[in-house]
Amino acid sequence: MPTIRQLPTSVVNKIAAGEVIERPASVVKELMENSVDAGATRVDVTIEHGGSELVRITDNGCGIAEEQLQLSIASHATSKIVDADDLFHVGTLGFRGEALASIAEVSQFRLRSRTPDSDSASEMYVNGGQLVEVTPCGAAVGTTIEVRNLFFNTPVRKKFLRTTQTEFGHLSEAFTRIALAFPHVHFTLKHGARQIYDLPPSDNWRERLAAFFGDEIATHLIPVNNADDAIRLTGYVADPKFNRANNKMQFLFLNGRHIKDRALQHALSEAYRGLLLTGRYPIAFLRLQMPPEMVDVNVHPTKLEVRFQDSGRIYSQLLGTLRTKFLSTDLTATYKPIESDDLHGAASGGGNINGQDVETAAKMREELVAWAKGQLPSDTESTSGQREVQESLDLDFRSAQRQPLELSRFDRDALQSGPSARGYAESAVESARLDEPHETPAGPTPGRALQLHRRYLVTETPEGMVVIDQHALHERILYEEFREKALAGRLETQNLLTPETMHLSPSEFSAVMEAQETLAKLGFQVESFGGDTILISSYPAILDRRKPSDTLREMIDHLVGDGKRPDRRDLLDELLHMMSCKAAIKSGDRLSAEEIDALLELRHLCQDAHHCPHGRPTSLVFTKEELDRRFERI
Ligand code: ADP
Ligand code: MG
Repeated sequence: MPTIRQLPTSVVNKIAAGEVIERPASVVKELMENSVDAGATRVDVTIEHGGSELVRITDNGCGIAEEQLQLSIASHATSKIVDADDLFHVGTLGFRGEALASIAEVSQFRLRSRTPDSDSASEMYVNGGQLVEVTPCGAAVGTTIEVRNLFFNTPVRKKFLRTTQTEFGHLSEAFTRIALAFPHVHFTLKHGARQIYDLPPSDNWRERLAAFFGDEIATHLIPVNNADDAIRLTGYVADPKFNRANNKMQFLFLNGRHIKDRALQHALSEAYRGLLLTGRYPIAFLRLQMPPEMVDVNVHPTKLEVRFQDSGRIYSQLLGTLRTKFLSTDLTATYKPIESDDLHGAASGGGNINGQDVETAAKMREELVAWAKGQLPSDTESTSGQREVQESLDLDFRSAQRQPLELSRFDRDALQSGPSARGYAESAVESARLDEPHETPAGPTPGRALQLHRRYLVTETPEGMVVIDQHALHERILYEEFREKALAGRLETQNLLTPETMHLSPSEFSAVMEAQETLAKLGFQVESFGGDTILISSYPAILDRRKPSDTLREMIDHLVGDGKRPDRRDLLDELLHMMSCKAAIKSGDRLSAEEIDALLELRHLCQDAHHCPHGRPTSLVFTKEELDRRFERI
C-alpha cells in the first residue's frame, strides 16, 4: 500500500518556487516589482550570462529593517496586505509574499538593505533556502539583492534553461514591461560589461516608448485618452501602417501591472478591422486605471491574467474609444501610398504601384471609413458587409503592389534548356499511350489557361482539366527552388551598397543572433551593430523587389512568434516557406497571359506540384472521365 507522507518543508518550498520562478526573467520581474513597491525612484539591474549566473538589483526604496530581514524570505510573508479583505484592494504589484522565499530557495541569495532611519545596513546570505548569516555592513538607503547560480540545487529546472541569448531575451522583455509601466522611475540594465538600457525618468511616455521601440514608431503613435467615472484608458496605438505579424507589440497595463487579456486583445483587433490586412496585428501601448476593487488580480501565479468585475464594460470602452479615435484621425491620408516603401508596413507585398491601383485603393479606404462612420455605434460582431469591405481591400492592396511576375534565373535556365512544358509533354505521351492512342495530346497552349477570380487558373490537360491555385503553385515552385539552392549553399545573395540597420527589441535581437547561421544560408548576412540594432549587409537576390528589412521583419516576427521556437532543424525549412510565400504572387493578383503561361510552364519543376509548402493542394485535377460521368455521357 502506498503511504501518504507530509513532504519536508524544503521540498514544499521548491515546488512552490517552481510556480513563481521559472527562469532568470522571473527573478528580474519579481525583484523589480519589489523595488517599485518600495517606492524606489532608481533601479539598477545587472545580470551575467543571461541572468543564470547573476541577477543583481539595487534600488533606493524604503529598505527592510534588520529585524525583518529573515521574515522577508519566509514564505507567505508580506508587508503589503494584512487580511483577506485586502486581497480585493491590492494597490501594490506584490502581495503574496512568495517571491523572495522562492528565489532564496533555489539560488545563492544575498540581500543588503538599509532603511532611512538607520545609519547602517545589514546583509543576509541564504544558500539554497538555508540561512547562512546576517552581518552588519555599510550601504546607502535602499536594497540590493544578488541572486547567483539560479537553480544550482534543482538540476531539473536548470536543465530547462536555454542559451544565454534566449534567457536574456526573456529577461529583457520582463525588464521592458516594468520599465514601460513606470516611466517616472530611472531604470538601467547591464548585461556583463554591456550597458543595455539607461532610462532617465520621464513625464512623457512617448520618450520611454521611443527608448525601447525606436523613434519611427514613437512618432507615429496616436494618443488615446478616455475616462468614465471609474475607468481611465490612456496611452497610444500605432498608425495602422506600423503593424506586426504577431501580437507581441501589444502592451496592456492595468494599474501599472502588465497583463494579458484575450478579450481586450480582441477589442483591439476589432478596432483595427478593415485597417489591417488579415494576419497582421496592431501595435498598442495602453494603460487602464481603475479602483483596485474592480479587478481580481489573484487568479494567476505570476499575476499575468486578471479577472475584471465587468469585462464587458472595459471591452466596450476600449473598442468605442479606438473607433471614435480612428474616425477622427485622418488615417486615409497615411494610406496614400506615394512610394512603394511607404507601404511596407501596411501589406506584405513589395514593388511599385501603378497609379490606377493606388487611386482605387485610396478610394476604397475612404469608402470604408465612410461606411464605418455610418456603423457607429455598431455592435462588436463583424457583419458580412464589413468582411466584404475587408476582403476587397485585401485584394486591392495586394494587386496595387505587384509588379509583373518575373521569372528568376533558375526558371529561365529551365525554360531555355528544352521545349516548354517538358512535364506535360511527357505525361501527355504516356497517358495518350495508355488511354486514347488516337487522340492528339493537348499541351498547355499559351494563353489557353483562364484566370478566374484573380485567384485560380483553369487549363486543359491531356487527362482532363486542372484548376490551379496561382499563389499556392508559385509558392511551391519558389520553395523548391530556394530549398535546392539553400541546401547546396548556392542561393544568390545581393550585397547592399549601404548596409541597412534595424532596431530590434532585445528578445528579437537574441532570436536573430541565434538564427544567424540559418539566416546566412538564406542569404541574409546580419550582424550585431551595438545595442539591439542589427546590420543587414546582404539579402537573397531572389527578393530583389522587396526591401530586405521588410522580409527580415517578417522572419523575426516568425522567430519570436508564438513562444515555442521551432526546432533548429526545421527553422531553415520554415523560413524557406515564409520566403517563398512572400515572394510568390498573391491571390488577388491579376496575371497577364504571359505570366499565366510562365507559371504553368514552371509547374513541372516542383517535386510535389500538387501541394503548396503549407500542405494545401496547389491544383485540383478533373479527369475527362469524371467530367463525362458528371455530364452523364457515360
Ligand atoms: P510580496 O512582494 O508579495 O510582498 P516578496 O517575497 O516579493 O513578497 O517580498 C517580501 C517582502 O519583502 C515584501 O512584502 C517587502 O516588505 C519586502 N521587500 C522585498 N523586496 C524589497 C525591496 N526591494 N525594498 C523594500 N522591501 C522589500
Ligand atoms: Mg514581491
